[in-house]
Amino acid sequence: MLAFIPERQHQILEKGRDTYEMECAKPSTAGSVSQRSCVFCGSRVVLYPIADALHLVHGPIGCAAYTWDIRGSMSQGAQLHRLSFSTDLQENEVIHGGEKKLYKALTELIKQYQPNAAFVYCTCIVGLIGDDVEAVCKRVEKEQKIRVIPVHSEGFKGTKKDGYRAACEALFELVDSPQADYLTSAIHSSPPPTINILGEFNLAGETLMIKDYYRRMGVKVAVCFTGDCKIADIEKARTASLNVVQCSGSMTSLAKIMQEKFGTPFKRVSYFGIEDMSKALYDVAEHFKSKEMLQRTQNLVKKEVSVLLPKLTRYRRDLEGRKAAIYVGGPFKAFSLIKALRHLGMETVVVGSQTGTKEDYELLKEITQEGTILCDDSNPLELSRFVLEKGADLLIGGVKERPIAYKMGIGFCDHNHERKIALAGFEGMLNFAKEVHCTVMSPVWKFSPARRQYFAEPPI
Ligand code: SF4
Repeated sequence: MLAFIPERQHQILEKGRDTYEMECAKPSTAGSVSQRSCVFCGSRVVLYPIADALHLVHGPIGCAAYTWDIRGSMSQGAQLHRLSFSTDLQENEVIHGGEKKLYKALTELIKQYQPNAAFVYCTCIVGLIGDDVEAVCKRVEKEQKIRVIPVHSEGFKGTKKDGYRAACEALFELVDSPQADYLTSAIHSSPPPTINILGEFNLAGETLMIKDYYRRMGVKVAVCFTGDCKIADIEKARTASLNVVQCSGSMTSLAKIMQEKFGTPFKRVSYFGIEDMSKALYDVAEHFKSKEMLQRTQNLVKKEVSVLLPKLTRYRRDLEGRKAAIYVGGPFKAFSLIKALRHLGMETVVVGSQTGTKEDYELLKEITQEGTILCDDSNPLELSRFVLEKGADLLIGGVKERPIAYKMGIGFCDHNHERKIALAGFEGMLNFAKEVHCTVMSPVWKFSPARRQYFAEPPI
């Protein structure tokens, strides 16, 4: 029998055993120690890769812990996003307000680093003391003649999802700028097949790989939000006739705003695993209704898959029959991971997400086997219990799930923003197989006390 907080009972479901509808998309239960991040973190994830902008965290220094080191988006050219700036609010500002400090910090930093725009992230304390961040940003914008955009990401205001929305609203201010209007009218006279990619962050250079697939299909990428992104790129977003949304949790709201304001349609895709990567390319080819483009796409997929499949065989030989647990931010990635693991002969026995919707969990229920545990907004104790109960050999997650796996003495694969190897695309599928194989087959787990205690491994 599983142990969980009673209020969370319906956020956990075992396929084939429980018949109720999963509860989700609600605030975390107090005392549950959720794996979710705050609103500010959500905004930071989306905007941080914009490499020629100044990113200033208005708050205490602790909020600025999300640095480039754990959110390593790559950039060609400008590297300003790799530096972290904070107004480092202290007791004095908590009592007397932080507006003066913010004005001084912004003015000095813009003078020193000459960014092409600045984002000011509001944190919990700023929401509490009531600084007029909007007014400070407007004043600096006027004086310095660059866009200074406040991001309303006070941590306590909701969940990470609200942070994504705040970031998308900030981005739309740049998409809808007067400069962007000029560019749109200049280019739209003869549009080439052009798309925007939304929710792709160029971790380990993945954006460049994906852009190359589209280039081979004959498709131009106007702007990638926000991997390898510069401020001037964003102003070209309206020249695209399709938005392709990869990380749907983070950027569907920008796609929806653009559909409503400019009529730009959007498609949800995933760049992970063989089937979903191929489908992401075919979906774009079908949108443009070009026979030549469809042929080029078929050639591309055929070539990539014929190289990849034989290479996966040796990893599958060792991994056949092993079990995996998945806990990710948005469930769209989980769909792809379940399919990718099947290519390696592995079964998914636990799958959960921080921000899934009812429809997402219904789909997860459909594509998993009887006995699989589905969980929404889980916590470390629950995840540890699920891993034990189902005998998982591998946990796939992010920085906060890594210690859970290691404490339980099982393999771990980082599939979050901290990863240092490309896992997207066809090349990424091979890297994923290597990573999974390396960690699951490691002899080190034999030495783990937890492994011996919980999994009855033989003594060393
Ligand atoms: S914004 Fe609030 S919840 Fe987020 S890191 Fe800062 S203090 Fe913590």
